[in-house]
Amino acid sequence: MKRIQHYIDGRMTGLDSTRTAAVFNPSTGTQSAEVSLASKADTESAIQAAAKAFPGWAATSPLKRSRVLFKYKALLEEHTDEIARLIASEHGKVLSDARGELTRGIEVVEFACGMPHLQKGEHSLNVGTGVDSFSMMQPLGVCAGITPFNFPAMVPLWMFPIAIAAGNTFVLKPSEKDPSATLRIVELFTEAGLPDGVLNLINGDKEAVDTLLTDPRVQAVSFVGSTPIAEYVYATGSQHGKRVQALGGAKNHMVIMPDADLDQAADALMGAAYGSAGERCMAISVAVPVGDETASLLREKLLSRLDGLRVGQSIVEGPDHDMGPLVTGQHLDKVRAYIAAGVEEGAELVRDGRELDDQSGGYFIGGTLFDQVKPGMRIYDEEIFGPVLAIARAASFDEAVAMVNAHEFGNGTAIFTRDGDSARQYCEQIQVGMVGVNVPIPVPMAFHSFGGWKRSIFGALHVHGPDGVRFYTRMKTVTARWPSGLRERTNHYSMPTL
Ligand code: NAD
Repeated sequence: MKRIQHYIDGRMTGLDSTRTAAVFNPSTGTQSAEVSLASKADTESAIQAAAKAFPGWAATSPLKRSRVLFKYKALLEEHTDEIARLIASEHGKVLSDARGELTRGIEVVEFACGMPHLQKGEHSLNVGTGVDSFSMMQPLGVCAGITPFNFPAMVPLWMFPIAIAAGNTFVLKPSEKDPSATLRIVELFTEAGLPDGVLNLINGDKEAVDTLLTDPRVQAVSFVGSTPIAEYVYATGSQHGKRVQALGGAKNHMVIMPDADLDQAADALMGAAYGSAGERCMAISVAVPVGDETASLLREKLLSRLDGLRVGQSIVEGPDHDMGPLVTGQHLDKVRAYIAAGVEEGAELVRDGRELDDQSGGYFIGGTLFDQVKPGMRIYDEEIFGPVLAIARAASFDEAVAMVNAHEFGNGTAIFTRDGDSARQYCEQIQVGMVGVNVPIPVPMAFHSFGGWKRSIFGALHVHGPDGVRFYTRMKTVTARWPSGLRERTNHYSMPTL
């Protein structure tokens, strides 16, 4: 059985770990590897390697650091197929989607290549007579990242390229469900010329996470995952004096106005609800058509498209399927249980993905559609994280806005309309961090920052873009006055007498 190890101080280690977890191929339901689970001591040795590498890396000039990132970007591009296959074979998303994920991650590396510019700080001349003031954006030290299963390449790449380009060193703890792609992208950074110890990876679970959250050498923690763990990471890390950004779960609504192009809206919903089997924090899981006529027309268009939804293996010869399996058997059971709960609570099950005929042993479920879903039902209130779309009808624009704003999550949302005024009002009134206008999944580009509102985030700063640079640097502001000295002294031969 293949053993997936840790990567500490520039080499693989962890064969002697006593605790391991099984890694599966979700397309077949068979175990493909086992992953070492780091002990407290393993985690401390990764922190130690990062602490040791920090002074040298922080003293390396920003331009030299960013040259390593340029090489890293080229290597990631060269290895795209290999990395995409690792993602597809452990996560279950189809290859084209895996390639897309990596591309979005590489865009953050491109952004981080500009760190010499981004980290320049500020300068004010003559804040008082003969007094100048300037700020320096200095690295923090050892930073840690804890990442979820659903983007094993992109989410880690939201974090460590920016942290490292800014002069920090890093310990990454990826998801134990699909660790191979993450391990490969970490290893490639060394090939690009990153000194040993600057980027370390430990595989593990709560034991590793708790060590990162409490060790005094760790200065900052970035977390992406479910809301209960995000809240725990934020509270524990903050209690131990660390800077923490913790991104949590989501329930993203798409409001469809009566004047929207309904074919365009239905096409967009198919990709946004069922792409990656709904295992995206920016997936649309609630469609909010305004008016019963809009709802009925939209429902018909979705049903006809669901007839053509191709579900199957994540890696195939020829064109990809539209969506692959869920990540684990346990997660499949959870999604099936949510569908049962929706029926019990009185929602109308229009298409039941549990009826998918599949004998492969993989964790497959078909696209599911509910209508007449209402706040208070578990399938509305909770994040399912599967290919289950709920239609929650609203009578008016104001009712739609109120519904979205009342939800505990506020990650992403979209409005589909041809009316500029509705779109503008929506953007202004909605209590959500990322908003799309006729764009179903409004993930900001690398040079903007990504983050939700409400219980989709804990901590003040979003990830990547300007907030990412702020998160991984601390500002020092110097106010300086230079008394007149040598410039005004002409006689260099006598003793200076001030
Ligand atoms: P998860 O919360 O189960 O795991 C995330 C990380 O936390 C993993 O590395 C895991 O090992 C660790 N972890 C799990 N339980 C822990 C515990 N008790 N103590 C300490 N650490 C623990 O999330 P997941 O199932 O891997 O990912 C799916 C979730 O991530 C969804 O809720 C999704 O919305 C969310 N997500 C959010 C964003 C965002 O940007 N807001 C992006 C991607 C995923």
